Amino acid sequence: MYEIIMEDMTKVKGRTEISELGEFGLIDRLTSRFGAQCKSTIFGVGDDAAVLNASEKEAMLVSTDMMVEGIDFDLTYFPPKHLGYKAVTKGISDIVAMNGVAEQVTISLAISSKISVEFLDDFYDGVAFAAQEAGVDVVGGDTSASVTGLTISVTAIGRAEKERVSYRNGAMEHDLICLTGNVGASYMGLRLLEREKRVLGDVPNPEPKFAGYEYLLEKYLKPRARYDIVESLLEEDIVPTSMIDISDGLASEVLQICKSSQCGARIYLERIPIAKQTNELADEMNINSVVAALNGGEDYELLFTVPLEMRERIMNLGCIDIIGHITSAEQGKVLVTPDGAEIALEAQGFKKQ
Ligand code: ADP
Ligand code: MG
Repeated sequence: MYEIIMEDMTKVKGRTEISELGEFGLIDRLTSRFGAQCKSTIFGVGDDAAVLNASEKEAMLVSTDMMVEGIDFDLTYFPPKHLGYKAVTKGISDIVAMNGVAEQVTISLAISSKISVEFLDDFYDGVAFAAQEAGVDVVGGDTSASVTGLTISVTAIGRAEKERVSYRNGAMEHDLICLTGNVGASYMGLRLLEREKRVLGDVPNPEPKFAGYEYLLEKYLKPRARYDIVESLLEEDIVPTSMIDISDGLASEVLQICKSSQCGARIYLERIPIAKQTNELADEMNINSVVAALNGGEDYELLFTVPLEMRERIMNLGCIDIIGHITSAEQGKVLVTPDGAEIALEAQGFKKQ
């Protein structure tokens, strides 16, 4: 029989604040005990998705993500339809980051009493739209009540040829560091929404000023996973030596690749792609757009590495920038400014917001 102890466990075991470990330190501490018991587990914790044995040639990919009200989204300005769309994007993006094709998602909700059925109808319209667009089936989930707010969990399942799976740990010295699209737009979209919420908080029938910044709002509220890139890489027969999606911010993702691949990196500041609207709003709000690009996060673009010889083939793909290259671990992780100065690349630590 279990012995039930009705007392505060923290008194018995002491108490370490989670902030002392940070998000990644916490995950390491909790998961370091897990090895693989099953033959079908090819790769467990430590990448965008787990890699499982599906058949001789194919791997199955599985990833789970959570979105928590008040932490990951604010319902005062997040339309439910977009929230549903973004939840699916988050799931698919982790499969894409392994160079895989997402095929199924499950959606689980913990719902507070302030959420109406109509809200959930709209949320599922967004889920259905994103799933249809990406060719993904919604195959299940779970529904529960919540005391404190809405929590959304998405599990995504996908597939890839084993030989085409891109892990975080395969980057080699001299590899080119490539980035799709641009970075910092999602963060500036969030800053714009928060500014309008602050300004219009007590105004009846508020009319927020979003003109000219529609692209930023779309990148934050309704980002599309880059499954098109997985198709392009297949067509061009390119397998990135490493890949990760930009969820926590460009700087953090470069550091993740360096940590997993045990290498260093040189990123050239003037090569980081920043959209015109991102620069414009950053100027208007007195924010350094480079900081938004490096630390903003939630871009759902792809960061990947390829051997140096592939330079031309990568350039031919279009919409991909080569922002730096991989170095030896001893050379460190540095950001090179246009005047040649070197700054240590640093992540912001715990997840933003
Ligand atoms: P991403 O930002 O790509 O979603 P995370 O940083 O959330 O990835 O997670 C990194 C790795 O840690 C992944 O392999 C993930 O499955 C694993 N992980 C995260 N949280 C937990 C947890 N509570 N228990 C077990 N594994 C976890
Ligand atoms: Mg990821």
